[in-house]
This record gives sequence, C-alpha cells and structure tokens, in this order.
Amino acid sequence: KVELRAVRKNFGTTEVLRGIDLDVAAGEVAVVLGPSGSGKSTLLRTINHLEKVDGGSVRVDGSLVGYRRSGDKLHELREREILRQRTRIGFVFQNFHLFPHLTVLENITEAPVSALRRPRRAAEETARALLARVGLADRAEAYPKQLSGGQQQRVAIARALALEPGLLLFDEPTSALDPELVGEVLDVIRDLAAGGTTMIVVTHEIGFAREVADTVVFMDEGRIVERGTPAEVLDAPRHERTRAFLSKVL
Ligand code: ATP
Ligand code: MG
Repeated sequence: KVELRAVRKNFGTTEVLRGIDLDVAAGEVAVVLGPSGSGKSTLLRTINHLEKVDGGSVRVDGSLVGYRRSGDKLHELREREILRQRTRIGFVFQNFHLFPHLTVLENITEAPVSALRRPRRAAEETARALLARVGLADRAEAYPKQLSGGQQQRVAIARALALEPGLLLFDEPTSALDPELVGEVLDVIRDLAAGGTTMIVVTHEIGFAREVADTVVFMDEGRIVERGTPAEVLDAPRHERTRAFLSKVL
C-alpha cells in the first residue's frame, strides 16, 4: 500500500512536484503517464527516498519513508535504516542498472546476501527460481553485456523480486529497448500484476496500461491532472492536456 500526501519537490527554484496525493492499494497496479519533464521519475524516486521530499509525506505499507516522527518533528532516518526500507521497495530503471562485473546470478543474489544476510546457497536457489520465472533459467552464468536489452531488463526485474518487496516501481522499463524486445518484458510485468504485486509503472505503453492498470494517473507540470480507471482516463479523458498527450502517444 502506498500513500502520498501533498508531496512537493523542488530542484533549485523549479517546482518539480507541486503537491502530489496518490493512493495505491495493496495488490493494485497504477500506471503513470505524462509528458517529458512532468515529474514522473522524480515522483517514483521520492517513494523510496532516492529524492528527499520538500514537503508532504510518503508512506509504504503504513511506514513513513525516509523519516521517523518524534512528537511533531520529523527526523530523517540514518542511511542504514533508509537502505533497509529500500529493500522493501523494488525499483526497475529504464537502463537496467545491472552490475556489469557480476554474473546474472551474482546480480540477483548480491542484495539478499549483503543487505538481508541470507545464506548464499538459499539466495542462489531463490535466484534460479526467479530466473526461471522470467524465462532466463539458462543464463545464470552470463554477464550482462552478453544479454540482449530485453534479457537484461528481465534480470533486473528478477533482481528486484529477490528482496521480496512489498512494492515494485518501474520507470519506463521498456523505453530503452528495441521494439521487438518490448513484449517479453511487458509479459513479465503483466504476470507480476496478475500475481497481485503492488506496482507503480511509469510507461508510454498505452495498450499495456489499458490491460494491467487498476488506476491510470496523468501527470503534467508536477501535478496529477487526472486519474481514474483505464477506461476513464484513456478512452474518455476529461482534461484537454490529457487528450493532447494521448493523441500524441496513441
Ligand atoms: P521523462 O519522461 O523525460 O523521463 P519525467 O516526467 O520523468 O520526464 P523528471 O525526470 O521527474 O521528469 O524531471 C522533472 C523535472 O525535474 C525536469 O524539469 C527535470 O529537468 C528536473 N530535474 C529532474 N532531476 C533533477 C535534478 N537532479 N536536478 C535538477 N533538476 C532535475
Ligand atoms: Mg523520467
């Protein structure tokens, strides 16, 4: 469960998030759409405290992210505690961000072993099961550069899943891929959605949004302009800006 309340973020004098309220219930999939620069990546990054908010609050499964409250004051958590919180939130980036010097298996076991202190053997067993789930059972010993972009992104998803996160965030997971590789990654995300994983997905794949989203959110200039079911937002947008955006990406 994710609860954003009046989240604000500035870079210098630029207001990038201007009061974002967003709720995503457990097991729900929210798809975030919006033009370049509207604040989509920044929004995702505030959810696991990769960006500090300048106002408002983020809660994931009831816990305040990045801060603890004492009395009416907020104190930022220590780095260790923040890293701990991040293990509960999987993040999949546009450009995969795999460790180039580690094999596929090592990429997936690194965080469970080092951050969660899982025994290596158990972590490897889990990693192999996850690789099978994303269709890469036979690539465990490969290095990232030996894989296609679609395969690398599926490894990145397996890596995120290895921490058994309560929430998965995807930032344009298919936009760096050749068109023929987009489908294999969307298939994996679609499976996760069907399995009840709570997810927030930033994507321009409208067909995918229509299929998997419980909620579609349209952002522009740091605000949520419109939100609703896929049918509401994609087929009957109420705002001119949503219509203009959809007419460009559809
Ligand atoms: P895109 O679709 O191109 O990925 P976006 O909706 O994800 O865009 P953001 O990356 O969140 O947009 O950026 C929103 C605004 O914040 C942009 O104007 C961007 O230039 C600015 N911005 C983002 N990160 C930083 C930063 N670290 N320092 C300064 N400005 C930033
Ligand atoms: Mg972005």
